[in-house]
Formats: sequence, C-alpha cells, structure tokens
Amino acid sequence: MSDAIFVLNAGSSSLKFSVYGLADQDLSVVASGEIEGLGASAHFKAKDGRGRMLADVSLGDSTRSFGHAEAFAHLAHWAYEHFADELVPLAVGHRVVHGGLTFSEPTLIDAAVLKRLEQLIPLVPLHQPHNLVAIKAVMRLWPDLPQVACFDTAFHRGRAQVTERFGLPDELFRRGVRRWGFHGLSYEYIAGRLRHLAPDLSGGRVIVAHLGSGASLCAIRDGQSVDTTMSFSVLDGLPMGTRCGTLDPGVILFLLRDGWSVDSIEDLLYKRSGLLGISGVSNDVRALLASDCPLAAEAIEFFVYRTVREIGSLTAALGGLDAIVFTAGIGENSPLIRQQVCQGLAWLGVRIDPDDNQHGNVCISPEGCTPSVWVIPTDEEAVIASHTLAVVRSSSAHARWRTRAPAGAPPLTLPLHPTDHLVLSGPQVLAGDCLTRRIAEADVSGTIVALEPCGPVDDVALHKTKASER
Ligand code: ADP
Repeated sequence: MSDAIFVLNAGSSSLKFSVYGLADQDLSVVASGEIEGLGASAHFKAKDGRGRMLADVSLGDSTRSFGHAEAFAHLAHWAYEHFADELVPLAVGHRVVHGGLTFSEPTLIDAAVLKRLEQLIPLVPLHQPHNLVAIKAVMRLWPDLPQVACFDTAFHRGRAQVTERFGLPDELFRRGVRRWGFHGLSYEYIAGRLRHLAPDLSGGRVIVAHLGSGASLCAIRDGQSVDTTMSFSVLDGLPMGTRCGTLDPGVILFLLRDGWSVDSIEDLLYKRSGLLGISGVSNDVRALLASDCPLAAEAIEFFVYRTVREIGSLTAALGGLDAIVFTAGIGENSPLIRQQVCQGLAWLGVRIDPDDNQHGNVCISPEGCTPSVWVIPTDEEAVIASHTLAVVRSSSAHARWRTRAPAGAPPLTLPLHPTDHLVLSGPQVLAGDCLTRRIAEADVSGTIVALEPCGPVDDVALHKTKASER
C-alpha cells in the first residue's frame, strides 16, 4: 500500500482528475482522466500513468442529468474499485480559480477557509462555484481527509500595485476590482521547469505564452510574475477559443442600451466570441487551420496579431526580453502559430530553427540566440499534487515536532517562499540552531525545504509566517 494524492479540477462542464502515488518521496501519476459533458451527455475517460486506457464510457441517460455531484460520486466509486488494494488517500488537492487577497499560497481547507472561498464567488461566478462543489463533495464522502486549495491567482500576488490597477476610483480597487491574473499554476510549473532546463534564465526576463482554449501571457522576472494579460476576469487579454479578450468597456454599455440582458452579454463574451465568434466555424485552432473559410483565416490572423502585440507590451513591462516559452494546447502543438508569432517578433531579435519548431523540440531558437524560444508542456496537476503533499506534511509538522523527534527520523518538508520567516521556539536551542543552519543551506528560491531532525527535540514549536504577517 502506498499513499496517494488525488487532484481535482472542476470546471463548468467537466471534472478532471489525477491520482498520484507516493513512493520514495516522489509523486508519480497512477491514473488521470476526465468526466466531460456534465449537465448534458457525460462521458468518462481514464488512463493509467503510461497512457493506457482504463475507462472510456458514456454516463447517465436521457432521463437523468449527470451533474457535478454524480460525477464526483462516480469517480470516487471508480477509484475505490481500482485502487483500494494499493493506494491510501493522503489528501485531495483542488484547483481553485480565485484566492482573493487572503490566499496567496496553497491552503489547507477547513470550514472557515471554505466560507472565505464562498465569499469570493461574486468575483468569478462562472468558475469558483464548481471548485467549491468538488470540495464539499469530498467533505461529505471523507470528512477527515485533508483537502488543499491551490489558486490560479496566487502566482500573481505580490506584483507591483501599479500593475494591478484599472483606471478606476481607488474604492473599487479596494473592493477587489483589480487585475488579479489567472493561469498561475501553469506559470508556476513553467517557471520551475525553466529553472531546471536553463538555470541561466532563472534570473532573466521571460514571457510565457499559455495558449490553450483559455489563453494568457505572463511576464516573469526572477521566477516571479511581473504582469499578465488576464485581469479581473478570465475574459481579458488575448482572444481565446470562445472568449473575447481585451474589449473596450464602451461595447458593454452599447449592448446594454441596445436591450441586451446581462446574461446574454455574459453568454456572448464567454461562449460565443474569440476564435469561434470571429470565424463562425470553430473554437479549435486545428479546425480553423484546416478550413478554407476566409473568416477562419482572419480569426487565426487576429489571434496571432493580438499575441504579438501583447508580447511587445509585456516586453516593455520587463524592460527587455531574454526568453519566450510556448505552452498549453496551441502553444505546445501548433508549429504554425509559433512560427507566425515569432515572425511578428523578429524586430525583437526573435528567431527560430524551422526543424526544431516543426518537431516541437524543447528549445527552438538557434544556439546563442537571444531571446531564446522554448516549447515546454505545462502540468498544473503536478503543481497541485506537490503543493498538496507539502501542505499536508507541514500541517502535521508542528504536532510532530512537539513530540520527541528521534534522531534519524525522516525529513519533514515545508513549502517555503523567500518571503517566509521561520520562528523556532522552545528550550532546545541547539535543535533550533541546527534547523536554522539547514534552512540556510537549502534552496529558498524553490518552494520546498527539507528539515531533518538531527538530535533529540523536546519541545520545538515550528511556525511559518509570511513576511507581511510579522
Ligand atoms: P484547456 O486545458 O484550456 O481546455 P488546452 O490547453 O488543452 O485547453 O488547449 C486546447 C486547444 O488546443 C484546442 O481547442 C485547440 O485549439 C488547441 N490544439 C490542440 N492540439 C492542437 C494542434 N495539434 N494544433 C493546433 N491547435 C491544437
């Protein structure tokens, strides 16, 4: 039997999941999949860690709608049937779209946290409720199982205030009408991968292009978000599969005066705009590239034009550019879109090798060329799983350290950010010194630090506080 982390990503019409087994401190995917078509004709697909199909079935029938609650029950039942003999759930990690000002790092969920997350629903009414339904479903099924919320907004917290503002009265800014930014789990993953792939870029100026059915760009310096194209909602910035991207607010006023209801405008902006809206053909880049409809070509041209323009804008925000990274469905799989975007950035010195681009190699720019250009597949679930493990371990760290920790006990791990501050208290100063030394040796630019007990500890309280809370 080994411990397992379940990762859930509940969207408006789908429930995505991954199961990670924990062996020798390493997380590896045991299964992943999705129930899509919730509310209509639901379909369940799952594969194992090697990509072999484990399930591919239609769910529900015409007499019964198959919603989030049914989807979660089905998933739990399926996971139990398949893994009860080999895996013990240690925790569930959730992708939660909005953490507001309160949650700037992964958080263990309890009743108070859940209440706070519910208060954020007005900021993202189409997304947050689905995330919370999944959390409550797990609570009902396994009340004692730890759950951890990982936020799409968190990576963008800590940016300069000027980048978070709209040109609106300060009172609205205080009430949360600000440029939050999203896709943070994806950007965090890419920043981490880049640290491994190109350590010399870790202090550099990088723009990550997350181009999927939702699309945004993030300007990153020293591994931290500097600015991003999505803002108050997931509508802003680049045009997307069905979402509009940047829009003059005057258009909304025009439509309201023209008699459109709020619901119909919402439907227009989220579901009938972007690539689908312009082309009238599809929201899928593959279908647009295959189409001979002139509006399909215009939709692609618009997508590329807006991406190039926004990269220019973020380059100014960074004061220069050392690298571009393409990721997500379009960024990872479409050589043509990458080539067109890079061609539009030739004025910045961006060049790519056609063969490397065609094959989607990791680095697609000629050697020594700056800015360098990269293709790195994103993995938001991996970020959620590792945060979940770290939070669960650190939440028990306090209790474990208050008991006698024998020499040679396994290391404890804490998520540790550069702004965090560890307070060690208790009579065993020696133990405190020892811990402090190990922390100093550790890589605090990362997020995980191992604390290794190295002597008898009677009463060492271990607190982690954010710099802002001191
Ligand atoms: P999300 O996770 O937001 O649902 P993805 O990152 O999976 O989205 O991206 C899905 C999109 O990626 C599809 O709608 C399609 O436009 C695009 N895509 C996937 N494969 C290809 C491909 N081979 N060529 C061009 N576009 C692709």
